[in-house]
Amino acid sequence: MAADSVYPISDSMKNAHINREQYEAMYRESIEDPDGFWGRHGKRIDWMRPYTKVKNTSFDRNNLSIRWFEDGTLNASVNCLDRHLADKGDQTAIIFEGDEPDVSRYVSYRELHEKTCRFANALKGLGVKKGDVVTLYMPMIVETAVAMLACARIGAIHSVVFAGFSPEALAARIGNGGSRFVITADEGVRGGRRIPLKSNVDQALEEPAANVVERVVVLGYTGGAMQWHDSRDVDFNGLMEEAEPWCEPEEMNAEDPLFMLYTSGSTGAPKGVLHTTGGYMVYTSITHEYVFDYRPGDVFWCTADVGWITGHSYTLYGPLANGATTLLYEGIPTYPDESRLGRIVDKHQVATLYTAPTGIRALMAGGDHVMDGTSRASLRLLGTAGEPINPQAWEWFYRVIGNEQAPIVDTWWQTETGGVMIGPLPGAMELKPGSATRPFFGVQPALFDSEGNELEGATGGNLVIKDSWPAQMRTIFGDHERFIKTYFSTYDGVYFTGDGAKRDEDGDYWITGRVDDVLNVSGHRLGTAEVESALVAHDKVAEAAVVGYPHDVKGEGIYVYVTLMKGEEPTDALRDELVQWVRQRIGPIATPDVIQWAPGLPKTRSGKIMRRILRKIASNETDNLGDTSTLADPGVVDELMEYRAFR
Ligand code: ATP
Ligand code: MG
Repeated sequence: MAADSVYPISDSMKNAHINREQYEAMYRESIEDPDGFWGRHGKRIDWMRPYTKVKNTSFDRNNLSIRWFEDGTLNASVNCLDRHLADKGDQTAIIFEGDEPDVSRYVSYRELHEKTCRFANALKGLGVKKGDVVTLYMPMIVETAVAMLACARIGAIHSVVFAGFSPEALAARIGNGGSRFVITADEGVRGGRRIPLKSNVDQALEEPAANVVERVVVLGYTGGAMQWHDSRDVDFNGLMEEAEPWCEPEEMNAEDPLFMLYTSGSTGAPKGVLHTTGGYMVYTSITHEYVFDYRPGDVFWCTADVGWITGHSYTLYGPLANGATTLLYEGIPTYPDESRLGRIVDKHQVATLYTAPTGIRALMAGGDHVMDGTSRASLRLLGTAGEPINPQAWEWFYRVIGNEQAPIVDTWWQTETGGVMIGPLPGAMELKPGSATRPFFGVQPALFDSEGNELEGATGGNLVIKDSWPAQMRTIFGDHERFIKTYFSTYDGVYFTGDGAKRDEDGDYWITGRVDDVLNVSGHRLGTAEVESALVAHDKVAEAAVVGYPHDVKGEGIYVYVTLMKGEEPTDALRDELVQWVRQRIGPIATPDVIQWAPGLPKTRSGKIMRRILRKIASNETDNLGDTSTLADPGVVDELMEYRAFR
């Protein structure tokens, strides 16, 4: 992949924390002397007992060890709260923006600290102990942050399940975690619609998998009707009133678990990723400061739901560890209309907006005017994560949302990695739309071929990481064998990411998509991201998904699903035009064999295209679609099957 355009380091980033020379020097040190580097930077957070050991890791699958700062002790909630009280007690920690545009709340560090302590005491009173798993099934509201931090304060392991998941999906996650406690609300509200959280929990608890649950703490939030089970349900607000406002934090070892979290489920059965305390706090804090060039006083808005890793690391832990003001938005970016995102930025003078390509493409489909009436002049930096961003969407984000004034950091990482792994530091790197550019400190990416040979220079291959970094996941909860098998058995001695990537002449990385999604057309390997980006570059295309299907001659044929811009008509002429368009942009090898119009695409609840389902539809294996429980809108699949007949 070559960059169509390169954006030099912007003037606004000339005084960024890290410039190019500093990046080079610090990166070198982080690789050559990880103990020295992390030993120094580990001190950016507060330890109860300082560590004397820094890195103790081995990627040898027979002798796997991932331990960081292992003799240090700390508490994550103390790092997010107590240590800011002296000088930032009255500063806003969380800006809450409600679903309805006239609702906002400002919660200071002092208030957040008190609420957290109260709820921590309440949990203790219910019998929650260090090491217990507590499941959260909550809206995007302040109490959710309070509940997470309260778990951290007493050493309980939180397991946040995205509130869009069905009762069955929730039950499976509760059962997998052996969670005796669930925290929920009567209802959530998103885009003007109410979500019956409590009733979903009630249904989930009827499933055999979830019969471990003893207590359900229920927040009366909307006041909506619900059933109450006296022997099991407890009122959140009542607990808070009765609880003491100070709670002694639990002294946690660096390697004690902080939380578990299930991956998005794009590829198959979700994995309960386990993160520990010390390395995670150090890494989310340092990446939040440097990748986003965080400055005291900046309002930081990560739009991800706290049900995903991005919400854990960059709505909550990273920003709060750094004493930032973080924005928590309850709703969706298009409610009550498409200008909402811009309105929130203006209202709260947001400096950094960190979001996902899927949301950008959704806004882009409405045209440039969707931001009319908003200035977005406060934005200093933009960021994306979650999927490859098509250069077309990147340019639109930069031009229309950022007014060509805010650099974009395209950050590649995973639930498993805990924090950003590859992404530009805005004061140190030129930007290339579609490229995540360079590794963060301590991260050693490499490209391997399928035989396990490391590839050098400008080339494409399977993305691996050669050595450990502090926020690496430690295991799959309850299934260490699966952990080793998934990440350490494809190749010897390296962490396998499951993603494919290319490296260009400058050494910059371009993520091409999941390795399972790579197409093999007549012996040529083609990344789905590349073909999709070519399609999205066409004026009439809003979104595209590309998969392979069995083809007699080519081995694999290219099957394309296309969602058109609002108001565009699907015609045969347009179909032919798109085929030619891709041919011209990439080459005859990438010529689509089938183009199917798609009013919507199947996505995970975090907004990622689920290509494994599209593959099944393309190859007509529709009676066995696999696990669809993580789909955002199962109706889309039926629609696509109907459209298939008219493709
Ligand atoms: P599952 O592992 O259950 O299939 P998932 O991989 O979608 O779900 P996440 O951990 O949320 O769950 O997502 C990580 C993946 O998202 C990466 O492995 C990569 O495929 C993709 N990704 C994340 N950020 C980027 C990015 N900036 N560019 C390209 N791809 C990205
Ligand atoms: Mg994954």
